[in-house]
This record gives sequence, C-alpha cells and structure tokens, in this order.
Amino acid sequence: MIYDAAIIGTGPAGMSAALNLKLHNKEILWFGSADLSMKVQKSEKIANYPGCAKISGPELNGRFKEQIWEAGLEITDKMVTSISAIGDRFMLLGDNEVYEARTILLATGTVSAKALPGEEELLGRGVSYCATCDGFLYKGKTIAVLCGAKRYEHEVAYLAELADKVYLWANYKDCEIDLPNVQRLDSPIKAVLGEKRVTGIGLRDETEIDVDGLFILRTSVAPATLIKGIEMNGPHIVVNRNMETSKPGIFAAGDCTGRPYQVAKAIGEGNVAAHAMLEYLAEK
Ligand SMILES: Cc1cc2nc3c(=O)[nH]c(=O)nc-3n(C[C@H](O)[C@H](O)[C@H](O)COP(=O)(O)OP(=O)(O)OC[C@H]3O[C@@H](n4cnc5c(N)ncnc54)[C@H](O)[C@@H]3O)c2cc1C
Repeated sequence: MIYDAAIIGTGPAGMSAALNLKLHNKEILWFGSADLSMKVQKSEKIANYPGCAKISGPELNGRFKEQIWEAGLEITDKMVTSISAIGDRFMLLGDNEVYEARTILLATGTVSAKALPGEEELLGRGVSYCATCDGFLYKGKTIAVLCGAKRYEHEVAYLAELADKVYLWANYKDCEIDLPNVQRLDSPIKAVLGEKRVTGIGLRDETEIDVDGLFILRTSVAPATLIKGIEMNGPHIVVNRNMETSKPGIFAAGDCTGRPYQVAKAIGEGNVAAHAMLEYLAEK
C-alpha cells in the first residue's frame, strides 16, 4: 500500500499534522513513540500555550492521547532509520520494514547527539540502529552498544542473549543492566573504526576496543542521516514558509526547523505543513 503521507515524530508538530491530514481523509503512516514526546513529558508546567493555562507536560500528553484515540489515529511505534526517493514516491525503513508514501513530514524534534565520526559511512556495514532487525547477525560475536534511553534496555538484554560479549555505553541515569557478558564503559566514544566494515571503537581516553559491530539505540536520527542531501542550516532543516524542504515532497515542522523551541510553534508549523502537503498531493 502507498500512503498519502508518512509523518515522522509523535511530538506536538507531528500531532498537529496528523490531525489535519486525518480530517482531510488522507491515508497516513505515523511513526514514533506511542508514549509521545519525551520533551513534553518532561515539562513541569507549560505556561505559554494558549487555552491551557499552566498545564503540565504529562497532562498535555494525556490530552494528546485522548485526541489521538478520538480521531481514530494510529501510531506505528517504530524508529525510521532511512528515507529514499524513488521517482515521486518515498521508501521508508522503520525497524527494518519497508513502507511507501507520497509525501513525508519530518517532525523529529532536535537531535541531541551528532552522528559519530564513521557512523554514517559504516551504517549497514557493522553500524545498526535496530537490535531486533540485525541482532541475529552477531550471534557469538563481540559488539558495542550505545544506549540512549532506558526504554531500550530490553533491546540491550536481547543483544546480550545473542552476542558473546557486549560493551555498553548508557547515556542516561539509572542504567539497570547487570548481565555477566555486558561490560559498561564510561569513556565516551570518539569514533567508529573500520574501512569496509566496523572493526573497533575509538574512545576519548585514546584506547581502542575490537568489536564486530555497533548498535546505536537513540531516540532520534539526524535528518542528514535519514535523507541524503537534504539542505541543513547547522542542526536545523531549511524550510520555506510552506514548510517545504529542499527535497520536493518532503516537509518539516517543529523544533527540527529551528528556534524558538516551543509547543505553539511546533503545532503551528505542523498545521502549515499538513496544508502544504494537501496542496502538493492535489497537484500530483
Ligand atoms: C524540560 C522542558 C521544558 C519545556 N517547556 C516548554 C514550555 O514551557 N513551553 C513551550 O512551548 N515549550 C516547552 N518546551 C519545548 C517543547 O517541548 C518542544 O518545543 C516541543 O516538544 C517540540 O515539538 P516537536 O514535535 O517539534 O518535537 P518533539 O516534541 O521533540 O517530538 C519529536 C519526536 O520525534 C521522535 N523521532 C525523532 N526521530 C525519529 C525517527 N527517526 N523515527 C521515529 N520517531 C522519531 C522523537 O523521539 C520525539 O518523540 C520544553 C522542553 C523541555 C525539554
């Protein structure tokens, strides 16, 4: 099936676009966490969103969830790791499943971590973003895992069942992984090493570790990694007033397009993007 639109991100920007596209009866695929935005969830009080005086982040996410349910919207709880254009359509890879859509909305928020040196070059050649998809390739081998959030701990445990040895970097508080073949390391990763395939990890303390692969379990992927050649301004995706990016058919909204990082801006841009996507689809 070819969807009219694929929305990437379940924060306020993605939410706003999803509602508007659904109201226009478009077939949409909506990727991201079913728990919605962690940024919103962490906000103690949102004091500047009109109509919701001093609402807490969890309360706002609760209201979003109610509205998602009422609107009959569905979330595909998957991480999109690559997008490629084929003619005037797009192929998306979500946790190793392929999807097809006529338009794309990037509502991915800001990416807190930059790609590691060597990460993009060795993606698919030892670097993986998906434990479930690629874990079996590392049965009995030595791997490195960079875990960016507690919600991925079960994926680390799964990898530890398959691999002989796991070196783990946990970039969050209260890591609870305690397994005999998992060794936690603190010195940050400086680079992914290898030419044709991953052969090791270089650390800031100037040591090197031999590994067969590296799993990066982050909550987001940098836009330039997702779509090769998209125009960026530093960490932000360049858009015009219709939220169109440099790639026809690909739109962007919310924190990923630039400051101010605010719920109201994200929701407004998601709305503008949805209407521009409707026009684009109508023209096609
Ligand atoms: C502590 C804190 C307090 C704040 N207080 C306020 C406030 O008072 N008022 C205010 O207006 N704003 C506030 N903000 C900012 C506000 O939360 C953000 O501006 C807003 O959430 C941006 O929405 P967004 O949809 O652009 O991105 P996000 O909310 O960041 O959502 C993006 C989502 O996309 C997902 N995603 C990214 N890449 C992928 C991928 N490849 N595949 C699938 N999913 C992906 C991410 O996991 C994330 O869930 C606060 C933020 C923080 C952290």
